[in-house]
Amino acid sequence: MVETAAPRNLRFAVIGAGMAGVLSAVKLTQAGLTDVTVYEKGDRIGGTWRENTYPGLACDVPSHLYSYSFHLNPDWSHVYSPGDEIRGYFERVAREYDVEARIRFNDEVARCDFVDGRWHLETVNGHQDVVDVVIAATGVLHHPRYPDIDGIDTFAGKVFHSARWDHSVEIDGARLGIVGTGSTAVQMVVALVDRVARLSLFQRTAQWVMPSTNPPYSDDDKRNFRDDPTRLAGLRDHLSQRFDGFADGIVDATSPLMRMVADACRANLEDNVADPELRERLRPDYQAACKRLIAAEGFYDAIQHPNAELVTEKIAGVEPEGVRTVDGRLHELDVLVLATGFKVDAFMRPMRVTGRNGTRLEEVWAQRPNAYLSISIPNFPNFFMLNGPNGPVGNFSLIGVAELQLGYIMQLVDRLRAGECREISATAEAMEHHEAARVEAAKSTVWSTGCRSWYLDDRGVPAVWPWPFTRFREEMAAPKMDAFDVV
Ligand code: NAP
Repeated sequence: MVETAAPRNLRFAVIGAGMAGVLSAVKLTQAGLTDVTVYEKGDRIGGTWRENTYPGLACDVPSHLYSYSFHLNPDWSHVYSPGDEIRGYFERVAREYDVEARIRFNDEVARCDFVDGRWHLETVNGHQDVVDVVIAATGVLHHPRYPDIDGIDTFAGKVFHSARWDHSVEIDGARLGIVGTGSTAVQMVVALVDRVARLSLFQRTAQWVMPSTNPPYSDDDKRNFRDDPTRLAGLRDHLSQRFDGFADGIVDATSPLMRMVADACRANLEDNVADPELRERLRPDYQAACKRLIAAEGFYDAIQHPNAELVTEKIAGVEPEGVRTVDGRLHELDVLVLATGFKVDAFMRPMRVTGRNGTRLEEVWAQRPNAYLSISIPNFPNFFMLNGPNGPVGNFSLIGVAELQLGYIMQLVDRLRAGECREISATAEAMEHHEAARVEAAKSTVWSTGCRSWYLDDRGVPAVWPWPFTRFREEMAAPKMDAFDVV
């Protein structure tokens, strides 16, 4: 007699109610997997869009691409819509797809232990849960990185990280200092230069800036999108193809696209910064797109504003009155914003995760985080990550990436659900083989051309998907089951 597998009712924990967590809950429930709890340490939905509320916050991926494929939005206000509109979009999706009711807010998962074939969760509040499958949707740009600057605690004004914006602080008319020149700082400079008495931008490294415009959508545009959903879908497809082209070009430092990007950035600088001395201080000495490319409207205008000063002398320290640079000059300030980025290798830590036979994630990741295809870790069965280590963070819209990854995970989950197996995790060989190939391929990407950036790991290897995006799509289309330990 042939033994048939019995289907299982699976219970899921999704960790994080940001873009990827909301996506997971929607897709699981749509597939009839309705026993889902979403754990969220914050008090509202949105992940990065909840935590970042700084003036000028926007997404430099066009909004009609930075949307779920299953819930396009005819009402985006701009080509690149502002942060609060994006957060509102995720909140609406969560409401409309009944995700909200599944979320436990203010309940941070402290540990996940794999015991007797199931994941035992405990939150910092002491709540316990036992589930079959964990989906970690805990984000990448999440843990603020604070700079180690002498005397920062002595500052008499207000100081905070860009991802912890203090809205009780009066910015209008203030003498504002911003440390950093990443995407965040640049957006803030443009938004604030007119509002402050004086803006000092402390630049450690100059940035290449792509010219960009951000036109609003008219009421007619929005009506047309609403009346004709195929137009909206067509626009998304068009944007998606454009980004595929970018994602294919960026993994080859010598590609024609990278040359075009370099030319466009150089022309932007030459054409828009009048003072030759300032222009040279704004000119990077590395290849464009090596660091995360800045796509900003108005940055060069803003930094030439009479209120603004680009400070390129090194910071010596912070004093009660402001920032002192190594030339001995004191830059007097009321507010100091640290736009100094994130600890991108922290991922889901400090959560304690213990897999099969007591294998501790802390030990597995002691050197650096790793996972097979960014999704699965050997000996951590039925534990899957979205936007996990070494994925396409610099290549494409992270929503598109998470949707593809979730589609892949759902195929693994289908096997568990059908009762074909009880445990699935990548084999150590598959992960090591993938990682070796990834490290080799990363050498010819633009991220390896000689600059400091958050893409680089402790070895200086880009912690990024180094192949064309079409290859990522192909890889995500169907799991290669010989890469998995199936019990
Ligand atoms: P970031 O790109 O990591 O930039 C951090 C900045 O702080 C860099 O200019 C860095 O200088 C500087 N810095 C760090 N420590 C410093 C120190 N001790 N002294 C002086 N300067 C210091 O961080 P981010 O701007 O927050 O952006 C992070 C990522 O978030 C972006 O790359 C992007 O992926 C995402 N983001 C996207 C958007 C968007 O529109 N989609 C907007 C904001 C952020 P060095 O360059 O010298 O290291």
